[in-house]
Amino acid sequence: MSGRILVFGGAGYIGSHVVKSLLGNCYEPIVADNLSFGHRQAVLTDEFEQADLLDVRSIDRVFDKHKIDAVIHLAAFIQVGESVADPAKYYRNNVVGTLNLLDSMVGHGVKKIVFSSTAAIFGSPQYTPIDEAHPKSPINPYGQSKLMIERIFEDYHKAYGLSHIALRYFNASGADKDGQIGESHNPETHLIPLVLKAINGERENVKIFGSDYDTPDGTCLRDYIHVEDLAEAHRLALEATDRFSGGLNLGTGVPTSVKEIIGAAEKITGKKCPVEYAPRREGDPSKLYASNEKAKEILRWVPRYTDIERIIQTAWNWEKNKKF
Ligand code: UDP
Repeated sequence: MSGRILVFGGAGYIGSHVVKSLLGNCYEPIVADNLSFGHRQAVLTDEFEQADLLDVRSIDRVFDKHKIDAVIHLAAFIQVGESVADPAKYYRNNVVGTLNLLDSMVGHGVKKIVFSSTAAIFGSPQYTPIDEAHPKSPINPYGQSKLMIERIFEDYHKAYGLSHIALRYFNASGADKDGQIGESHNPETHLIPLVLKAINGERENVKIFGSDYDTPDGTCLRDYIHVEDLAEAHRLALEATDRFSGGLNLGTGVPTSVKEIIGAAEKITGKKCPVEYAPRREGDPSKLYASNEKAKEILRWVPRYTDIERIIQTAWNWEKNKKF
């Protein structure tokens, strides 16, 4: 497949890597973003439209101007804690905003969407690795908002023939191997960039949220998946929408603990990471990692970064030479 792909949220961390992957594979990405969190410098194409999911006319304008073949939608608020404090913001932006996008797609005859969903739709794991059959029971408004959208897709599929693939990311991490783009959140809440910032002196230390979990070293296990592998999966999902509609779990299937992340970062940087032991963070399950069998089969996708040190190496290269 080739064609013009609208990447909504294409100026963000994952979106910018998706755009790079599309550019390298004969697609023509058109980026739409309101730049509330995204970075214009992260967009590696001139095809950029400032648009907002809550401004229907700005969405319609993009579809009127460009002949769009399919949509990749990554524009969302993503902070779990904030979603608990201000759920209205999350339901309005993530759910209502997506409805606006879908209605504009339907109105313009666009029938394919790849969506950034999250492992948070599963809530507290009942078993690991988490496969697609795992019960979906989010424990915060962020996860709820993403699950609601997945369910809306199913109804739009039946009613309007909209084919969708919802990719449920586990822990997105790392940076572009060429150093052009990488993670730059404000505020930063993710473990790997926080560890690297503690190592290079930008932060006093990193807090280890809980060391008494039922895991081999007492710290939480997560599934860190490289952002280039995620980006590749979006590109392949565009092609797979012809043969599949539904949700897929995207991880490496390899559990890594907080202490292992810190150890790997110290090895790569050759420096000590100042740490502080802190209480458990509310809502953190002890183990969260994916079964990626279905994603591999449906997408014909294989994650390339299965070694956490290689992932952290790319994040460190970016941290030292950040462009934005
Ligand atoms: N974590 C931590 N200290 C931090 C940030 C995160 O110990 O400052 C832990 C967190 O409890 C979780 C893991 O690191 O077990 C990954 O957290 P992150 O916020 O990066 O992603 P999440 O798993 O919440 O999506």
